[in-house]
Amino acid sequence: MTDRYAVIGNPVSHSQSPFIHNEFAKANGEDIRYEKLFAEVGRFEEVVRAFIAQGGKGLNVTLPFKGNACRMSTELTDRARAAEAVNTLTFTEDGRILGDNTDGVGIVRDIVDNLDVPIVGKQVLILGAGGAVRGVLGPILAEKPASVTIANRTLIKAESLAHHFADHGSVSAVGYEDLRDKHFDLVINATSTSLNNDLPPIPPGIFTARTLAYDMVYSKGLTPFLKRAQAENAGMLADGLGMLVEQAAESYRIWRGRQPETRKVTNMLREVLA
Ligand code: NDP
Repeated sequence: MTDRYAVIGNPVSHSQSPFIHNEFAKANGEDIRYEKLFAEVGRFEEVVRAFIAQGGKGLNVTLPFKGNACRMSTELTDRARAAEAVNTLTFTEDGRILGDNTDGVGIVRDIVDNLDVPIVGKQVLILGAGGAVRGVLGPILAEKPASVTIANRTLIKAESLAHHFADHGSVSAVGYEDLRDKHFDLVINATSTSLNNDLPPIPPGIFTARTLAYDMVYSKGLTPFLKRAQAENAGMLADGLGMLVEQAAESYRIWRGRQPETRKVTNMLREVLA
C-alpha cells in the first residue's frame, strides 16, 4: 500500500509541501501519497486521529497548530521539547506519536551549507519572537555564534524566549529602538511583516557589507525587508525558500530514512513561484 503523508494547517491551500515531498519521492524512486489537510481551529486532534485511522504515516504541521502537535505527541525529540513546537509528526505501528521540529535544522542548513555562510563566531540579530523563532533558536545557538539578539515589538515575548534558551548560549532581548547604532553579521527577519508587504521597525545602520540579510518569508521579488537591506548595501540577501525545502527534507529523512537532494527542488520551486 502507498504510504500516506500530509501537511495540516489553517489555512493550508497555499502550502508548497506536497510539491516538495512529491519531488523528493520521485527523485528517490519511492511511491508516496502527500496531500493537504485543513483543520478547523479546535478540531486539530480529531482530524489527526482520523488521518491515523486511515493509515496515515506522518504529518507536517503548519500555522496555527505547532503547539497542538507538541501536546499531542507521545514522544518528543530534544529540539522539539526545547522549541515547545512540533512541525513533524510520525505515527508508529504500535500507536506512538513522535513529535519533532525541523525548522531550525532547515534554516541552519540553508545558511551554512547552501549559502556557505558560517554562523560560528557571528553577531546574529533575529527580528520577531513568534513560533518560528522558538523553533530555530536552539539550532542557531548550537552553531556557537558570538551572540544572538532577539528584537521584538512585544518585548516581553523576546525576553521570555531569551530566558528560555539562556542555557543554550549568549542570547539577549531588546526593543527595536535599542538597535540604533548597532550592526550585525547575520540579520534574520522572522516576523510575518513581509506577508503584509511591510517590514519591522528597524533603525538604519544595522547592515554592513559583511551582513547576510535573511527573510524567512519567500516571495517572487525581494521582500520589503530585503529591499531595505539592499538599499543599505548588505553584503548578501536571501529569502526563506531554501529553509522551506531544507525543513521538508529533514521531515522526509525522518519518515523515509533517506536524505533527499534539495538544490534541484529549490530551483524547481523558484521557477514554479516565478
Ligand atoms: P507568529 O505569528 O508566531 O509571529 C509573528 C511575529 O511577527 C511576532 O514576533 C510579531 O511581533 C511579529 N510582527 C508581526 N507584525 C509585525 C509588525 N507590523 N511589526 C513588527 N513585528 C511584527 O509567526 P511565526 O513565528 O510562526 O512565523 C513568522 C514568519 O516566518 C511567517 O511569515 C512564516 O511564514 C515564516 N516562516 C517561514 C518558514 C520557512 O520554512 N521559510 C518556516 C516557519 C515560518 P509581536 O510578538 O509583537 O506580535
